Amino acid sequence: MKTIRPSDIRTFAFCPRLYFFENHLMKAEELMSLKELIEYKVKLILGKAFHFVVELVEEGEKEKDFEGTFAWYKVKGRPDVVKEDSVVEVKSSKGPKDGAWYGDYLQASLYAAIFGKEKVVIKYRDGERELEPDEEELLTILQLMELVKEGYFPPPKKSKWCESCPFREICEKLGDEGDDWFPRIPYVKRA
Ligand code: SF4
Repeated sequence: MKTIRPSDIRTFAFCPRLYFFENHLMKAEELMSLKELIEYKVKLILGKAFHFVVELVEEGEKEKDFEGTFAWYKVKGRPDVVKEDSVVEVKSSKGPKDGAWYGDYLQASLYAAIFGKEKVVIKYRDGERELEPDEEELLTILQLMELVKEGYFPPPKKSKWCESCPFREICEKLGDEGDDWFPRIPYVKRA
């Protein structure tokens, strides 16, 4: 059985090529300069502080680390809150205008599949989004992740965040390679 961490799904959805680099090259932190690393850590700490405050006012059962299974995957992770009918994930960022960021949706959907919930709720700084998990879609993504982990090289998924990607230089040199076989991974899951 293969092991997967829900946070890997977010990385993959953010950019499959970044996921490739993280798996096959040095860790991102090793590529960052000290200044970039400090800025990155400060952002993480601010994000966690927000996360903590929202969790304090959130009702429901607070979860601990767990191991579950979905299809032929062993999943290690920790959902933020599991309610009777839904899984709630709390994010420190703002959400898109309509729906949720695709990686957040997939991460919450994986938890929902494991805990047998019909809804995922993603709480952003600017409001919450409610969506239905789709197990088939989830499986397709997990299979693509496996291919990338095995060494298949995906195309870039360009966004404004490429500016701060530690792999930007090598990514630009490699260009759009991989574009001929890889499906388009959306940025947003519409509600
Ligand atoms: S530079 Fe952009 S497209 Fe390339 S790996 Fe980084 S995030 Fe992905």
